[in-house]
Amino acid sequence: MATRREQFAALAAFCRTRWGYRFGNRTALLRWQHKRLSRMLRTRTLDWASLPVIDKATLLADFSSYNSQGIGLEKALSAAKQSERSRDFRPELAGLTVGLSSGTSGKQGVFLLSSRERLLWAGTILARLLSTESLRQLVQPWRPALRIGFLLRADSNLYNTVRSSRVSFDFYDLLEPLEDHLQKLEQRPPDLLVGPASVLAELARQQLNEELHITPRQLISVAEELDDATAELLERAFRVRPAQVYQATEGLLGFSCRRGKLHLNEQHVFFEKDWLDAEHTRFSPIITDFTRSTQFILRYRLDDVLRLADHPCDCGNQALTLAAVDGRADAVLSFDGVKLFPDLIRRSMALASSEFDDWSLRQRESGLLIALKNPSAAAIASVRRELGRLFDSHHLALPTLTFVDWQAPLPGAKLRRIFSQLAAS
Ligand SMILES: [Zn+2]
Repeated sequence: MATRREQFAALAAFCRTRWGYRFGNRTALLRWQHKRLSRMLRTRTLDWASLPVIDKATLLADFSSYNSQGIGLEKALSAAKQSERSRDFRPELAGLTVGLSSGTSGKQGVFLLSSRERLLWAGTILARLLSTESLRQLVQPWRPALRIGFLLRADSNLYNTVRSSRVSFDFYDLLEPLEDHLQKLEQRPPDLLVGPASVLAELARQQLNEELHITPRQLISVAEELDDATAELLERAFRVRPAQVYQATEGLLGFSCRRGKLHLNEQHVFFEKDWLDAEHTRFSPIITDFTRSTQFILRYRLDDVLRLADHPCDCGNQALTLAAVDGRADAVLSFDGVKLFPDLIRRSMALASSEFDDWSLRQRESGLLIALKNPSAAAIASVRRELGRLFDSHHLALPTLTFVDWQAPLPGAKLRRIFSQLAAS
């Protein structure tokens, strides 16, 4: 149970995030960040260059040095795996929550959070995402508790944190078939529906086919990138525009605002940019989290590909606006040294998308392997034409395209539409 002091910390985080952090301009935000960083590092003169940039492998190799309790990796992993196997996510290790990242590639990540950090997380996420109407329901004691439906691969202490007399919380385990959840979703219709974009999309299709009848007030996409086509499908089915949380094992990295734009969480995290293109529009972030004290995230490079928006958002949040989180580094395809970024591939596939229901694309030595779900007779020609145009515009010869049958991702697995097997080898 959270102590009174921790509950107060969560409430304070909620209020600060919802109504505070009013920076008049970006310079004021950056100046404030600089102060927070100096305080964290206990130095007035920040000498970033002297600090190494680390990645997941470095952190895992020296796990105990990167957390305040000196907990070893083996111990953390075995506690997390034990919960995962038993599907009982209550156990904690030395009072800390241990969770596994969904690890789309390479080694599985593991994270540690104190109960205070957990409550700060809950306060922040609710403050950023609750609409005014949802917030009203939450604080008006005569109304039913706000019901949040969470479709996730793993339950965790993290999510149970949000549960209270004013918030009821239903967990849907994605390792079970989605069809099994439809009835419960109708019996306990969520006010907020939270899940990976591909799962929300599947529910949207069921809703459009009239096999599901729910009317969530808010939709929140987590754990996978939300592309425009999926956002449109969700809006068509549920008549609400989905919000997005950009979160990694390493922390809460971004949220969409009330205008629907995705902002980096610069109120908690300092982002450096490792540019991926000459135009400086796409980058992998190097993050320093100045709010966490259990696990140290200091100049930690993530493998994600983030794309800056053309224009800053005018909602008042001075944090950087992203056009999208486009995926992992291995979603960047490379031909003769020329990079094709995932947003370009997605745009081409979207132009052909009236000819199929879903798609995935793999780069191999031999060319591109393309899977189309329920393709029409014209689908292959249409994809060939759109990709032809894309490669042409980059002065590249179109590689061999091989079309294969669509295979649904395994239950609970992340949907990855674009993947380079060259990058993985
Ligand atoms: Zn905004």
